[in-house]
Amino acid sequence: MNHSFQPDLLLDALRKVLPSSGDCPLHEPLFCGNENKYVQECVDTGWVSSVGKFVDRFEADLAAYTGVKRAVAVVNGTAALHVCLILSDVQPDDEVLVPALTFIATANAVTYCRAVPHFVDSSEKTLGVDPEALDAYLAEISEIRADGCYNRKTGRRIRAVVPMHTFGHPVDMDKMIAVCGKYRLALVEDAAESVGSFYKEKHTGNFGHIAAMSFNGNKTITTGGGGAVLTNDEELGKLAKHITTQAKLPHRWAYAHDRIGYNYRMPNINAALGCAQLETLPAFVEKKRRLAEKYRKALENVPGVTFFVEPEFAKSNYWLNAILLDKEIADKRDYVLEALNDAGISSRPTWDLMYTMPMFKGCPRMDCKVAEDIGRRLVNLPSSVRLGE
Ligand SMILES: *Cc1c(COP(=O)(O)O)cnc(C)c1O
Repeated sequence: MNHSFQPDLLLDALRKVLPSSGDCPLHEPLFCGNENKYVQECVDTGWVSSVGKFVDRFEADLAAYTGVKRAVAVVNGTAALHVCLILSDVQPDDEVLVPALTFIATANAVTYCRAVPHFVDSSEKTLGVDPEALDAYLAEISEIRADGCYNRKTGRRIRAVVPMHTFGHPVDMDKMIAVCGKYRLALVEDAAESVGSFYKEKHTGNFGHIAAMSFNGNKTITTGGGGAVLTNDEELGKLAKHITTQAKLPHRWAYAHDRIGYNYRMPNINAALGCAQLETLPAFVEKKRRLAEKYRKALENVPGVTFFVEPEFAKSNYWLNAILLDKEIADKRDYVLEALNDAGISSRPTWDLMYTMPMFKGCPRMDCKVAEDIGRRLVNLPSSVRLGE
């Protein structure tokens, strides 16, 4: 081997950052605030289910923290994405641009609207959608007609784009907004991983006309299962609440509904957990950033690996820490994964690219050479909040 990569140096460096005993999961939840008290209150009062004061409070607290006009709590992040796409007027047979490098939910939500995911490449700097590459690609394959942007190859309308803030690192949203204006695309942020992440002082989820967030058990804060729809458009916010609660018209006893609705609301008992977690979120983000800094320093002089740092315009929550192996040793990735996992350090490759999945194989896509390269070389490291204490 002509490259100086030594997995032992990587292991030693990681051992300096991580606790010396016990296995280290990739991301575990932390409950150190009012969780017990609030959940107990739900049980004691019987308000465990679909309405209750914690749902209202969670929505208000989340809107206040992120700075959006309206937050609507839902059952999970995937449902939140589905609602975002419905409210972006995604119609059957439309195309929706989504990153090739994302968690499956981003692409699945598109299919729930009977629309077609169209996969786009990532930026090396953010790991999310590359707005410049997207602009060049759309210039080549699309044309603007009276009712929007059309894919000249497939003849389908391209309705929206869903940038995802990968591992909490924000996409370059100024450039993304410019591309959306130029090609008349609805901008839907997949902010599932980015609660606590800011782009130029503003929280993620504020930049499109609507955004989805997740509070699954492996995310920075959790409601058990849960998600939210965020928007700065009051009317859209009201509609999001309406369609996630079966589109029932308010009335003392009548069951009247004015459109197809969904039972996507977050139960009060989950929102209770969420209220307590939101109280601790600012401290969590500081701890996660401290952990990232510890990793960065420890890995600085380890040959063969580069710790991924936030882009200069962002303050990231560092939801999942990541290293990139040098290109020359990309083929050693599984060997690295094996060595780390054997040592009790949970580490994972990133997601398989969306167009490698059987159900998305025939979907339109651009040349995703950056996403493919990242996919080969990236390894996620243990990132639980408690590791930053
Ligand atoms: C977690 C996640 C989701 C889905 O959230 P769930 O709450 O698990 O449904 C969607 N998109 C991305 C990028 C995610 O990481």
